[in-house]
Amino acid sequence: MLEKVYPTRIIVPMMQHYGVPAVPTVEVGEKVTIGQCIGAPEPGSFSVPVHSGISGTVTDIRDVSLPNGVKCRAICIESDRKRTYHQSISPRSNIHISASEFMGIVKNAGIVGMGGEGIPTIAKINRARETGVTEVLVNCLQSEPYSYSDFLRISDSADYIVMGAVALAGAVGVTRIRFLVSESASSEIVALQTAMQRTAGEYSGYSFDFAYFKNRFPQGYYRLVARALYGEILGENDTMENACHAVMFNCSTVFACWNAVADGLPLMSRVLTVTGEDGLGHNVLAPIGTPVSELLDSVNGKLETNNTIVWGSCLTGLVTNDPDNTPIIKTTSAITIVRDDDVHEYPCIHCGSCIENCPMEIEPGIVTTLIKQGRYDEAEQEGARKCISCGACSYVCPSGLPLTPTIAMFAAQKRNSVVSAYSTTEKIDIGSVTLMEAYEDVSSKEYVKKEEKVVLPFEGGKFI
Ligand code: SF4
Ligand code: SF4
Repeated sequence: MLEKVYPTRIIVPMMQHYGVPAVPTVEVGEKVTIGQCIGAPEPGSFSVPVHSGISGTVTDIRDVSLPNGVKCRAICIESDRKRTYHQSISPRSNIHISASEFMGIVKNAGIVGMGGEGIPTIAKINRARETGVTEVLVNCLQSEPYSYSDFLRISDSADYIVMGAVALAGAVGVTRIRFLVSESASSEIVALQTAMQRTAGEYSGYSFDFAYFKNRFPQGYYRLVARALYGEILGENDTMENACHAVMFNCSTVFACWNAVADGLPLMSRVLTVTGEDGLGHNVLAPIGTPVSELLDSVNGKLETNNTIVWGSCLTGLVTNDPDNTPIIKTTSAITIVRDDDVHEYPCIHCGSCIENCPMEIEPGIVTTLIKQGRYDEAEQEGARKCISCGACSYVCPSGLPLTPTIAMFAAQKRNSVVSAYSTTEKIDIGSVTLMEAYEDVSSKEYVKKEEKVVLPFEGGKFI
């Protein structure tokens, strides 16, 4: 069941996405409404707008530090409890929109990949159009223990996910849509199939398909999907678009796209799971910026002295010690409470479990030793940079060794050093993800002019 959270205040960071921060467009003391843009990209910058999820008054604009290491400005808003929507928010009566219109809506709605990386969705669409893909993949493979927010979104809003997938396919110029699902997610599969039948009159010419994955963790990471679906082992600079001719969107992101089209709502709230080992398990719809402490209060989440709050899911999330000042952001799919068990470290017993369970074929025990000994070049040669921070190696290690934090931090430092080598108006490359350069300028590209006439193939539309 989806529970709604109405916080008394929100803290909205200007940096919730891959790229550079948005710039506040409101001032302290100003009244704001739901859906109002409160932060906008600087012209020419690789950024996305940020919106308020509540109505109220701006009480502060200050620096915040997020658990993922991001430091940026944030807008603090005190709720007026009136839930007043911005005048620009209204349902769309005509969904027969062109591809470029759809892209404009996605861009202005501040939509980013909600499955983790926060890549601006408009950049992904542009990259797919430029590369020339043959299919759209909808990632419904939420596989981390205790996290169910994507499943709830599918059960609750399958029609929106199907329509959003069609719109994204229309925007990138393909007709083939594949839903990636866990083979055990039978009720979500039925929900999507039913939605396909129910919405069939709204579009024509699209084919839907399911790709079934085993129910294991991790499953939905794009490199693993590339290998499972296409047999492609992506190199550091490969993207799914150029290597597999496919573009993948998380199902919550797809929902957000159609929410923006049909209801005119920007990305200002999200579904997330509030969960823990004590049986706490809630799927909530909360305004982005809701402080973690308010979220826990809303579901009566008790925080015992021997508990730790994880900002994210239990295996890949990050610890936060300041729940009053840590907000949820566009990419937060869960808040997890875990017990602080006394963990003792023992020497490696060479059981090989970490190697068997690493989805990236790294040898975590060896790589950790190399990093600890300062043998960084050798650690890189052993593939440390490929680490996706999935947590599987630490989880299975019987010696309680801190494998994931050691390797993941090393990998992140290496990737960040590549990022800082580029200015924001040039190509941004983090090794594994290459994004469009200067996506603001995409409207000047020849292919956009050519496809300006394309109408998304909803009822009454035509597909060229
Ligand atoms: S966290 Fe461990 S198991 Fe996961 S990719 Fe990194 S090294 Fe492999
Ligand atoms: S799982 Fe732990 S004990 Fe086993 S080989 Fe890996 S590092 Fe060593």
